[in-house]
Amino acid sequence: MTLLKIISRQCSELINIIFPRRCLVCNRILSASEQHICTSCYMKLPFTRWHGRQGNGIERMFWARIPIHRANALLHYYGGDESRKVVLALKYNNRPQIGVEFGRIMAADLRDTDFFSDIDAIVPVPLARKRIKKRGYNQSECLAKGVSEITQIPVLKDVIKRKIDNPTQTRLTNDERKENVKGIFMINDADAIKDKHILLIDDVLTTGVTIMSCAEEIAKVASGISIMTLFVAGRHSDGAKLS
Ligand SMILES: [Zn+2]
Repeated sequence: MTLLKIISRQCSELINIIFPRRCLVCNRILSASEQHICTSCYMKLPFTRWHGRQGNGIERMFWARIPIHRANALLHYYGGDESRKVVLALKYNNRPQIGVEFGRIMAADLRDTDFFSDIDAIVPVPLARKRIKKRGYNQSECLAKGVSEITQIPVLKDVIKRKIDNPTQTRLTNDERKENVKGIFMINDADAIKDKHILLIDDVLTTGVTIMSCAEEIAKVASGISIMTLFVAGRHSDGAKLS
């Protein structure tokens, strides 16, 4: 180990003593090897364990809609303590590094599969400009960065724009929800994705209509689409219909 590395490690250990990093789920002080979340909470996270298996819950959701290649989600979202705290930290706590770390985990989960073999580029689902200004970052972009670090597949930003945030969906019927998000995405750089197999990345798949709307726009230009999300809402686990 070089002297520089020893000094750097001791500095980070010292910083950790003065400003201890805490688990974002249980608030326990993290050990030097733990990132954002302690081992005990990590083990309790509701992993889908799909590992990109074909015909999984979200993959089937998209089959009838667009010619999707593959889809995968790392974790279920049941609204329970652990997953809820991860989502809140990812979206609202101004800690974009959490997204990057989970992106790495999402990619590592599929490393021994052929999931990434034909993919040319990664596109994070964009946020509206107003939302980015408020939050400071796009959590899907952070996930994409982590996936790219592991897979070496490039991330393309700004190829698709979100014109507006989703209007509220809660009181709408399924058909109204789909109508509600129609046309909220617009291709900004068609040449960048033309005839490419694009991996679309989002943080949470709940109703599925938003990512579908984005995927439909990309499908007009790209040669293929695959989808990856960090969370999938529990009711889609068995391949429920898009709702
Ligand atoms: Zn913990």
